Amino acid sequence: MSLSVKEILNIGLRQLSDSGVSDAAIDSKQLYCFLMGITNAQLILEYQKILPDSLCDEYFKLLDRRAAGEPLQYITGVQCFMGLDFDVDENVLIPRQDTETLVEDAMEVIRESTLRGESLPVKKRRDWDVLDLCCGSGAIGISLASLCPGVSKVVCSDISKGALAVARRNASKLGVSKKVDFEEGSLLKPFKRRFHSKKFDMIISNPPYIKTSVIATLQREVRDHEPMQALDGGADGLDFYKGILEDAASCLAKNGVLMFEIGHDQRVSVAALVEETGQFTHVTTLQDLAGRDRIVCAVLAGKKKE
Ligand code: GLN
Repeated sequence: MSLSVKEILNIGLRQLSDSGVSDAAIDSKQLYCFLMGITNAQLILEYQKILPDSLCDEYFKLLDRRAAGEPLQYITGVQCFMGLDFDVDENVLIPRQDTETLVEDAMEVIRESTLRGESLPVKKRRDWDVLDLCCGSGAIGISLASLCPGVSKVVCSDISKGALAVARRNASKLGVSKKVDFEEGSLLKPFKRRFHSKKFDMIISNPPYIKTSVIATLQREVRDHEPMQALDGGADGLDFYKGILEDAASCLAKNGVLMFEIGHDQRVSVAALVEETGQFTHVTTLQDLAGRDRIVCAVLAGKKKE
């Protein structure tokens, strides 16, 4: 049974769409490209090629995994984020396009001291010390280290050893190991405890924020494969924002910036949590490219004169 590449791609497309994969056409091709180590552009030149049975079998095995709900990115082991190829595995959340908005806004703050054109009370400088809290694959912090010359140091921190191993790999693969340190621990506890005087110019975080009750309703790719530890934000989805806000002010330098990714329905509650601390000014909420609420940003307020 010798099949052409075009034929096996059609089989792939049918199998994936029959099993409810939403991007069946893209995924069937991506799996072939992954198997052969070729790019999408090269694929077009291969359609008429006859594939040996052994490679057909390997392709069908990959299809079976995808059809059973395993995310494409855990099969191929990579996800592009901010134009950089990040390694991913089941220890980390697959970086989302929505989170690119957060990184772009952070880059604007660092470069211009503005947020979507509005000025912030933040001094322009070229030596930002950034903490990426709940870093997972390191997508946020490593993108900033790699793309933003104003960033001199990034600490990527996570409670998961497995996630930190992936983040370390990414920093080295993307050539920023010298700029990026890693810290294992729960939220800001390691920084309070170990480096008592450690102050960051920016704390940026995409913490787990899905309500526990919503987890069961997530797409099977997310629910059955992505790390729950990176998704479950507790009964109201706000546990991690509350935890971070307990110590954020004491870990930020003067006019330090706090940036959160939030769920599309958390604008009011997260902004209120930040306001309630009484420690921040310029509490701003922003939308992602689809127009959904996605980001909360705030600046550490100066000390009030008595
Ligand atoms: N945005 C992710 C999702 O929709 C959730 C990320 C998170 O909990 N931080 O699956």
